[in-house]
Amino acid sequence: MLALQGDFAEHEAALRHCGLRCRQVRRSADLVGLAGLVLPGGESTTMLKLLDVEQMWQPLGAALRSGMPVLATCAGLILLAERVENPNQRSYGLLPVTVVRNGYGRQYHSGTFALVSDVLPPGTTGTFIRAPRITHTGPGCEVLARRDDDPVLVRSGAILAACFHPELALGHPVTARFAAAVRAHAGAAGRGAAAATAADCGA
Ligand code: GLN
Repeated sequence: MLALQGDFAEHEAALRHCGLRCRQVRRSADLVGLAGLVLPGGESTTMLKLLDVEQMWQPLGAALRSGMPVLATCAGLILLAERVENPNQRSYGLLPVTVVRNGYGRQYHSGTFALVSDVLPPGTTGTFIRAPRITHTGPGCEVLARRDDDPVLVRSGAILAACFHPELALGHPVTARFAAAVRAHAGAAGRGAAAATAADCGA
C-alpha cells in the first residue's frame, strides 16, 4: 500500500485480517512484485507533494496501469479521478469520474451512512470523512454502491474506488472483494497456490 501519508496502517490491518500479506510502499523500488495496490485515504494534496519529493509519480502511474487490482479510498480515489474540482488538481486520470473534494462538507458533516447496492450485503455502511463527492461518471465506470443518489463505490477495469473508508471496519465487504481480486490476480499470474492465498499487497 502507498504509505506516504494517510490511513495506510488501517488498510494494512484490514487486509491482513483478510489473509493478505502487506508491504508499505514508500519508494519506487517497493512497487516491484506486488499483486495488488492500495491508495489510502488521507490528504490528496499532501500525497501529490510527497509523490514528487520521492520521485514516485511516474513509477506509481506505471504500476497503476499494469492491470493489477487497485483499491483506492477517499484521497486515493481523488488521485485516480479523471477530473478533480474544488480546487482543480493533478490526478492520474485512470478512473472516469469527476470528483468534488470535500463534497459532503467538512469534518463536522462526516459520519457513517447506509449504502445502497446490488453487490454488497444488505445493511452495509460506509464511513465518510471529508469525503470526495462523485458528480459525474463516464463510460466504463460501473457504479457498485450509492449513498442516496450519489455513486460512492465504483469500478473501472481493475480499479475499485470508494468515497468512504472500508478499512475502518475489519471484514468490510469492499475489502473482502479487493482481497479476492488480488488472490485471483496472483493466481492468474502463475505465482502458485501459496501466493494466491497470501498475496503481497502493496498498500
Ligand atoms: N479531503 C481529503 C482530500 O481532499 C480526502 C479525505 C479522506 O481521504 N478522508 O484529499
